[in-house]
Amino acid sequence: MFDYHVHTAYSPDTYATMEEMAARAASLGLEAVAFTDHVEWVEGDGATDYFRPESYLRTLEHLRRRYDGQIELLAAMEMGSSHRFPAEAGRLAAAHPWDYILGSVHWMPRSDGSLARGWHREGFEEGLEAAYAAYFREVAALAEGGTYDCLAHFDFVRRNSWAIFRQILPLEPYREWIDAALRAVIERGKGLEINTSALRRGMPTPLPAPEILRRYRELGGEIVTVGSDAHRVVDVGADIRVGMRYAASMGFRYFARFRRRRVVAWIATDDT
Ligand SMILES: [Zn+2]
Ligand SMILES: [Zn+2]
Repeated sequence: MFDYHVHTAYSPDTYATMEEMAARAASLGLEAVAFTDHVEWVEGDGATDYFRPESYLRTLEHLRRRYDGQIELLAAMEMGSSHRFPAEAGRLAAAHPWDYILGSVHWMPRSDGSLARGWHREGFEEGLEAAYAAYFREVAALAEGGTYDCLAHFDFVRRNSWAIFRQILPLEPYREWIDAALRAVIERGKGLEINTSALRRGMPTPLPAPEILRRYRELGGEIVTVGSDAHRVVDVGADIRVGMRYAASMGFRYFARFRRRRVVAWIATDDT
């Protein structure tokens, strides 16, 4: 089992240290963990100018020695809106031998072009339909022009509209943008993450929704990973087996393992 989406205190919204997260992963017997701390450049985001890569990598090296032969620890990041900051994202991605980069949309454009917090009521000020449309257009732009290996929580807007309004909209009206994003992921040889955090918020399946995963498969998508999006020690490894079974039920027989931003191994999804 592996968990490719774990935050540590190098993210502004997590108190647990990388040491604590690694110890928890070891106690669960996980084989690999990616510490995907937040990197943002949007003005007003708590993660902007927060991430300290040198310190992060020093701590990671120390933990790699401690857990040598026990857990593989990936040098990773969760980059937000990297398509809007190509120079910054490119520089950071090239500065270190990263193993894995998640690409996310946390900020969504309003009709006047300004950005709103997607995880907040602010992101839905112009109505749910407008928010879904803005979100999926933004995901397509990220998929086409951003820096990432896998897209994180592809339909984050569903998780947020559920968490804030207890409402989830049907996806058919946004199909054009969803398809554009999925095609870009596939053409660029990138992948999608199965994100189990939705289950902890009472949603019936991990993200992305079944219709999105099915469509990805139909279009030829093969690369998937799984992550808990843990921000707390108790959530490390949460529902990873459920995520694996979910992927298997959608026709994905293997999960991708990454190193140095390349797929280096395939793990059977039914190996649970
Ligand atoms: Zn995220
Ligand atoms: Zn995250």
